[in-house]
Amino acid sequence: TAELGAIDPEVQAALDAELGRQRGTLEMIASENFAPLAVMAAQGSVLTNKYAEGYPGRRYYGGCEHVDVIEQLAIDRVKALFGAEYANVQPHSGAQANAAAMAALLEPGDTILGLDLAHGGHLTHGMRLNFSGKLYRPVAYHVREDDHRVDYAEIERLALEHRPKLIVAGWSAYPRQLDFAEFRRIADLVDATLMVDMAHFAGLVAAGVHPNPVPHAHVVTSTTHKTLGGPRGGIILATNEYAKRFNSSVFPGQQGGPLEHVVAAKAVAFKLAAEPAFRERQERTLRGAAILAERLLRDDATEAGIGVVSGGTDVHLVLVDLRNSELDGKQAEDRLDRVGITVNRNAVPFDPRPPMVSSGVRIGTPALAARGFGDAEFTEVADIIATALRPELDDEDLEALAARAAALADRFPLYLGYGA
Ligand code: PLP
Repeated sequence: TAELGAIDPEVQAALDAELGRQRGTLEMIASENFAPLAVMAAQGSVLTNKYAEGYPGRRYYGGCEHVDVIEQLAIDRVKALFGAEYANVQPHSGAQANAAAMAALLEPGDTILGLDLAHGGHLTHGMRLNFSGKLYRPVAYHVREDDHRVDYAEIERLALEHRPKLIVAGWSAYPRQLDFAEFRRIADLVDATLMVDMAHFAGLVAAGVHPNPVPHAHVVTSTTHKTLGGPRGGIILATNEYAKRFNSSVFPGQQGGPLEHVVAAKAVAFKLAAEPAFRERQERTLRGAAILAERLLRDDATEAGIGVVSGGTDVHLVLVDLRNSELDGKQAEDRLDRVGITVNRNAVPFDPRPPMVSSGVRIGTPALAARGFGDAEFTEVADIIATALRPELDDEDLEALAARAAALADRFPLYLGYGA
């Protein structure tokens, strides 16, 4: 705004530059999205000023009558969206939601069974340097080497051997759906609690284009900013029997004052996620990922050393396998960046290269679907990517690809009328 620019021109200049970057490039980081202006308006509202420790109707501060309306709307909407009995909308992030859920269910030293980070799991599922790996005793399950699918036989074997108190199903880089009923069967076998972290695919679930974990899991956690397309934040869903435990684990267990401006933005996002336009967008997201996988499985790509983890996708992302390519993950990320496509390098299962370099890139379609991309545009993007990842390109080739990417970005204006 004019006021921000006058008070702090340095911050304003960087914000303007970031808006330009988001408008001018093709955002394909699988965990990112474009929050609607209404969501950003709620997040930038006067609620940023308000303390509201506690829950609707039971606050430790005065003046919470309007905040209560908003938080209750967010709770009711997210419960309806996912068919959950109980919801907590206060976690500041996905990591905080997982920390609070685990703190409510576990004692320090308890065993947790989660997907190996190197095979697509998340830091909070038991990584050594994360709270989940320090506070608890992590055991990791894996994907199979031949088809890159989660190995349920291994999960069952590890569960029987280690008797985990908690099994975590969920992922940050896995291009397939999980079998929640099978996870629950294994959890029941050893009296473990099943937690599904649907952070990545929550938007697909909300739209009804991906199985819903809520009927199968004891607890479901999520972020609200990935496929779900809302503000940065977390949520916890469960049955009513967990309500008291989870509420007190979030506050006062893990957090102080909730970010009610973010809760308001979550409420708006949950409303939008229930609408037909959201479902249509998630369908385009899935088709875009399928189109990309198909293109990268064609002979010319295979000959250039490009592979696709698990041989395809049934979610919003493709994990490109560069183990046979001269390009490593870092070089591929830089290459795509030069072309105007933003992705992140990512380890692939059984990756021979070190994590800082890696042999993969994770490419997601949610942000471009939010921008309006359909089959024709995703077909063009897929061809740009398949061409950009050929090892032998020169500067001229890259410039031509960058022009094609820029032309697509130009055709789909982002945040019209907003900002500079
Ligand atoms: N859980 C999963 C599966 C994730 O992929 C992520 C984010 O990368 C998180 C949790 C953490 O979310 P946040 O970055 O909001 O803490």
